Amino acid sequence: MGVFYKWGAGRNPDHPEIVDAHDSTLVTADGEEIIDAAAGAAVVNLGHSLEGVGDVMAAQADRVGYVSTSHFTSPPVESVGEKLASMTPGSLNEAFLVDSGSEAIEAAIKLARDYHVARGEPTREAVIGRWASYHGSTLGALAASGNTGRRTVYDPLLRDWPKIGPAYPYRWDHEGTPEEQAVAAAGELERLVRRLGPETVAAFVAEPVGGSSIPAARPHPAYYREIRRICSEYGLLFIADEVMVGFGRTGEPFACEGLGVTPDLMALGKGLSAGYAPISATMVADRVVETLEGHDHSFQHGHTYSGNPISTAVADHVLDRYSEDLFAAVRRRGRRLEAVLDPLADSPIVGEIRRAGLQVGVEFVSDRETKAPFDPDADVADRIYDAALENGVYTYPGGGSVDGQAGDHLMLAPPFVLDDDAIGAIGDAVVSAVNRVAEAEG
Ligand code: PLP
Repeated sequence: MGVFYKWGAGRNPDHPEIVDAHDSTLVTADGEEIIDAAAGAAVVNLGHSLEGVGDVMAAQADRVGYVSTSHFTSPPVESVGEKLASMTPGSLNEAFLVDSGSEAIEAAIKLARDYHVARGEPTREAVIGRWASYHGSTLGALAASGNTGRRTVYDPLLRDWPKIGPAYPYRWDHEGTPEEQAVAAAGELERLVRRLGPETVAAFVAEPVGGSSIPAARPHPAYYREIRRICSEYGLLFIADEVMVGFGRTGEPFACEGLGVTPDLMALGKGLSAGYAPISATMVADRVVETLEGHDHSFQHGHTYSGNPISTAVADHVLDRYSEDLFAAVRRRGRRLEAVLDPLADSPIVGEIRRAGLQVGVEFVSDRETKAPFDPDADVADRIYDAALENGVYTYPGGGSVDGQAGDHLMLAPPFVLDDDAIGAIGDAVVSAVNRVAEAEG
């Protein structure tokens, strides 16, 4: 009897028990301090023990803790909807509130389907995704995802939606300038849509900047310029998955803004409550809303806890903490984090160090010349993770050379509020962990 551990069962059953946390520090039951260099998985943007959250929760629970959004609304729901509409780019003016990033993607997929049905194009159903992407663990979101490690066992349960290659300049083999390579990579979508027939395709979904599969991978802006053109030309909706990178992680309010692209639907999660309550959102562009209005069959969807007043009250409090000053600090601290990892530039097992704001991806290769990934059985990322944790720093490992699409990597995505000392300590711990494994690999 006890907790069923989702990750790491059989590998690391002795998960440290965290009994306290503040800013970017976790405290174990044994009193050991761990620097949280991953903010959970890029969740706790505002740091641990954020002031005021407990009061907000208690006050909302005392007033109204639950009403069904099928029949009622509440002040925090209205407030969060308005704030999200004004923060997000373009005409993403309506927010559908759900409880996790996966659900935000599920809602976006269904909305895209509804949109085409409402327009009289019911044959459009496919959602094109990319390899080495992750949109969530529920069946629709997983079918749209291209992280094979997370899909394989469930493949028979998933719609066989087509995929294009990842936006992964480090591993592209296109010729020319970065811009020409980006255009060539995006062209894969156009060729696929033509081959499938645009009348069968509902949407294209992508993480604008790479998340857990290829952290901080960011193509030249020409890539999304082309993606936007192709989606518009062939009638696809563009779903941007900003669950991990939204709310300032990349140093812009939303990654799409930094890349100059406006989606039709945007999935948000993690940073929306910065980890303090389960809540996420699907932002919907005006033209989609207008198309759906007046169609009675539209959007048969929802969850019991959608728009839960306590979760939305927390999100309302958290959203007020995001500001241009904080995003400027993200950019500054990101540059500093990249600088403390400088000693890794010559490591024989480091292929690339990528950064987008305060998200860093360190990719490991067995050969820097050929960029050959490590054998997944060598568990390189997990070993580096373990060594960094021994050094007192929590990081986020991943990759495992999934069919050669992505190498092992470590993601660093600390809380935005960490100080210079913590950045220095992360650098020391990660550099020493990588060096230790590099030596063992010989
Ligand atoms: N989309 C992206 C980009 C993510 O990184 C994640 C989770 O890591 C999800 C979707 C799924 O979110 P959740 O775990 O809240 O369902």
